[in-house]
Amino acid sequence: MSDYSDVPVVLAIGGNDPSGGAGLQADIQAIGSMGAHPAPVVTAITVQNTTDVMGFGPLDAELLLEQASAVLEDMPVMAIKVGMLGSAENAFALAELLEEYPEIPVVLDPVLAAGGGTPLADVALQEAIIDVLLPHVTLLTPNSQEARILVPDTELLDECATALMEAGTHHVLITGTHEDTGPVHNRLYSPRRAIETITLSRLPGEFHGSGCTLAAAVAALIARGLPMSDAVHQGLHYTWNSLRYAHRLGSGQLIPDRL
Ligand code: PLP
Repeated sequence: MSDYSDVPVVLAIGGNDPSGGAGLQADIQAIGSMGAHPAPVVTAITVQNTTDVMGFGPLDAELLLEQASAVLEDMPVMAIKVGMLGSAENAFALAELLEEYPEIPVVLDPVLAAGGGTPLADVALQEAIIDVLLPHVTLLTPNSQEARILVPDTELLDECATALMEAGTHHVLITGTHEDTGPVHNRLYSPRRAIETITLSRLPGEFHGSGCTLAAAVAALIARGLPMSDAVHQGLHYTWNSLRYAHRLGSGQLIPDRL
């Protein structure tokens, strides 16, 4: 038997995807693969497969808080990963909870739309992410489209990152898969440090749950004590490999091999 300090606990807050490609299952697999213990907290139930999202229903904010508090009161949570929230009410409730745990690093993947384009966050939720959640966030991991939606007054990703850091997050990792470049340029912005660009070759195909995989892996690596830059580098390489060996399990997007 080993005690709990060997395997850090990561609280993963997100939605269920019944195809097992994105959402909490992606978090569970990525966090486990990185050597941490995932504690999954459900925010929403989605109806989807590898081709698209047909609908979703958020859970009550009270139930979200009860799930998260039950774990936080029992286990020494070393990082919190936040994905799909489902409603602005859930974002407000989570912000109040995070206020009580300022010492736990928070990685937030702003899930605004599914890979197929279906919106997963309304304007009220987008505003709540900026106004009440970002001040509690250690690392925000938008893709370039999400960064521009969250900061609509500029097209320039460097300016988006600056605005997001001014809104409260300490670090921003903007992933570059949606940009019209050959290789994919991912940029990590940190306070008082030069921007780090991590370039990876572009893989053919469309993937389901790549953003969840990345944010969850980085959260687990932070929970294991890695400095931010190392956690991001390792998390990106792990995610790239999970996509390289992805499986065609449905008729749409490929499902990453995270195990
Ligand atoms: N979380 C849930 C529950 C989802 O359904 C989705 C997309 O369908 C996502 C997160 C985001 O997925 P991705 O990692 O592909 O951005």
